[in-house]
Amino acid sequence: MKEFNIPFLDLKLINQPYENEINDAFKKRVASGWFILGEEVQKFENAFADYCGTKYCIGVANGLDALILLLKASNFPKGAEIIVPSNTYIASILAISLAGFKPVLVEPDLATYLIDPQKIEEKITKKTKAILVVHLYGKCCEMLEIVKVAQNYSLKIFEDAAQSHGAYYGSKKAGNLSDAAGFSFYPTKNLGAMGDAGAITTNDDLLAKKIISLRNYGSGKKYVFEYQGMNSRLDEIQAAILNIKLPQLNLENEFRQKIANRYLSEIKNQKLVLPSSETQNKDAWHLFVVRVAERENFRNYLIEHGIGTDVHYPIPPHKQLAYRFWNKLSYPISEKIHKEVISLPLNIALTENQVSYIIEKINQY
Ligand SMILES: *Cc1c(COP(=O)(O)O)cnc(C)c1O
Repeated sequence: MKEFNIPFLDLKLINQPYENEINDAFKKRVASGWFILGEEVQKFENAFADYCGTKYCIGVANGLDALILLLKASNFPKGAEIIVPSNTYIASILAISLAGFKPVLVEPDLATYLIDPQKIEEKITKKTKAILVVHLYGKCCEMLEIVKVAQNYSLKIFEDAAQSHGAYYGSKKAGNLSDAAGFSFYPTKNLGAMGDAGAITTNDDLLAKKIISLRNYGSGKKYVFEYQGMNSRLDEIQAAILNIKLPQLNLENEFRQKIANRYLSEIKNQKLVLPSSETQNKDAWHLFVVRVAERENFRNYLIEHGIGTDVHYPIPPHKQLAYRFWNKLSYPISEKIHKEVISLPLNIALTENQVSYIIEKINQY
């Protein structure tokens, strides 16, 4: 079979279908003279709330800010403890620290890479106020079990939905499974802008009102400041791009699902642990993550055959210098995951032939 050169992700290629429409929208925005929090942002907020099934969507500057803002808006006392998985992207944990609270790590389930609901209760103290779940790699967490624990201890639940645009848990979508959710539209996400962008979704009237103020310096009315807020506003150009791409998100996710299905059914190599694929909850397949004992070997082998990969993520949060006071702690499941995971190409620019080639090369490894 013909050799390929397949990058892990080519941001130019995945945006090519939208190029003309985006160029037109850009010209229109330039001509309008209105650049921040305008009609495109309003339109996107309505459309994305509708998409997620929530009452509100509030556009903000990025995914990290979305999480910081929903935590800041929640009126927790100083030093409140927030439960979060130990194997997430650092932003989930940073958001808790930056909002002034204490992240408490809980190990994931090795089969799903998602927070293990059985391990939450033992980490709850008098100071615990919320659980921030992360729908990692595009798969929704076990919300039924998590809600049970949260109700027993009167905890809030929040979602880090930065990797799960359009994922379902039962009949509801990610972003509509908790008190509030943070989304990122970083260019590599399932719904990606051409710069930084993010949003909060919620059904809570009071929380929404406060976040709308907090994202704009704590101001509900021009030059009147009710809170010490942030500048985390969404701009019109990013919103216009998101308005062009959102109507295609379901189709793009189905495309991802098809590639994932092929990987799941056609990769037959005992050296690899494939992701779990239960069907009841629909995966957004943000990433197709496999585990391999000798990751660097495997990764180099794929590079030799022109196949790009990435690692999400190589160092667990508790081993980062940013959290040096955790460095001696042990989270063995998380450590194993970070040592063994590798992400295969999974994006809308892949052709059938390229997918066949990737599968063939993996099966020959
Ligand atoms: C991308 C991401 C974020 C942060 O989003 P930014 O827009 O880059 O700030 C947060 N959490 C997870 C799980 C992510 O993947």
